[in-house]
Amino acid sequence: MRIILLGAPGAGKGTQAEFITAKLGVPAVSTGNLLRSAISEGTELGKKAAEYMNKGSLVPDELVIELVRERVKAPDCQKGMVFDGFPRTLAQAEALDRVMDIDMVLFLDVSDDAIVERMSGRRTCPKCQATYHVVSHPPKKEGICDKCGTALGIRDDDRPEVVRQRIAVYHKQTEPIVNHYKNKGLLKVVKGQEKLEDTTALVAAAIGVEV
Ligand SMILES: [Zn+2]
Repeated sequence: MRIILLGAPGAGKGTQAEFITAKLGVPAVSTGNLLRSAISEGTELGKKAAEYMNKGSLVPDELVIELVRERVKAPDCQKGMVFDGFPRTLAQAEALDRVMDIDMVLFLDVSDDAIVERMSGRRTCPKCQATYHVVSHPPKKEGICDKCGTALGIRDDDRPEVVRQRIAVYHKQTEPIVNHYKNKGLLKVVKGQEKLEDTTALVAAAIGVEV
């Protein structure tokens, strides 16, 4: 099964991608990871991508698509894959249409307030990078890293005003993609639930597997 997972930053895409890959025995294809490994392996595409990233500009859609096109030829993608973080633009979605047919697009629909609440509760250890959450994954001693005893901090990315800004950018980029797949009849909306396992149960039902 070829699945695209859409959802705002902090909507829990990574967790659900892991669940689906484990249940269906297909790999997750993340363009972030593809770019990083192409660059570290020094492939032709990786070199081109690095030029853009070193200048601080976005990697062009054609390059991203080319990376995806190569990746999905690999034997582990025979049974399908889960796209995570891709397509990010309507142009990428349209290009993907020319590469393959997609079976399902799962949209993890989580309210902005819930995302802000979730992300602004994150705490990170500045020394060992361990992550915690004040509600769902607190350290044993408040404000202190379990692993190394360092005082925990909040990453700039997790500050509420930064999170709101990222969500606004996300909506602007993603709405056309959501509409694109809705028009093709491929979109399934999964409402994010308060409890992670409840969201996972809805994802399981959508893809037709047992939890
Ligand atoms: Zn630590």
